[in-house]
Amino acid sequence: MTQRAAPVVLAAASGTGKTTLARRLVGDSDRYVFSVSATTRSPRAGEVDGVDYHFLDVGDFERRAEDGRLAEWASVHGCLYGTPRTEIDDAARRGEHVVLDIDVQGARQIRASIEDAVLIFVLPPSVDIMMARLKGRGTEGREDIARRLRSALTELQALKDFDYVVVNDDLDECISEIRAITEGQGEVPVSPEQDAEQFRTEIVRILRDEYDQN
Ligand code: 5GP
Repeated sequence: MTQRAAPVVLAAASGTGKTTLARRLVGDSDRYVFSVSATTRSPRAGEVDGVDYHFLDVGDFERRAEDGRLAEWASVHGCLYGTPRTEIDDAARRGEHVVLDIDVQGARQIRASIEDAVLIFVLPPSVDIMMARLKGRGTEGREDIARRLRSALTELQALKDFDYVVVNDDLDECISEIRAITEGQGEVPVSPEQDAEQFRTEIVRILRDEYDQN
């Protein structure tokens, strides 16, 4: 019997390059399709409704959550985000892996409700690169960056709920690893727990030295 194409959940701290990774994974193969989340956050410059996100007001989002139309949802950085059930069901019907770019709270809900989902935690190559991406985005103020760093520490605590950890060092290699994991081809990398620990230590240092002083 052939297995259905499992949903793939990618979670990571902001500034890890996860969205680029998810987009490339989907762009490179017809076996993968991107799950377009619903959110109450305002669109950033260049973001298109229905392509990057379904931008909803809070009332509309809450109605969908109450009606069970979201497979998971969570409050992230003060806004609501959720995966429409149709994104998962439509991909399953077409035999495609649906790629969910979601936070760890959502990943845990998917773990609990979709047995064959593959949960992958993505680490940045280094904290310096992650910081450069966060600052370079230019949309986040100092307090937002500090908040995202604190969230990253909380997210790292969820690592044990994940099936795999990959480092987004080289985009092509990282995509090959994810395909090997989800399609069961080639060598599956060992979880680099020490990378996660180093990442955690460096975030603690940056918060202490650069953001948490009075
Ligand atoms: P951003 O606002 O920067 O696009 O995303 C902020 C965070 O929300 C990211 O960690 C992203 O993965 C997460 N996120 C995006 N869509 C969803 C979703 O549908 N559900 C959950 N739980 N998190 C999401």
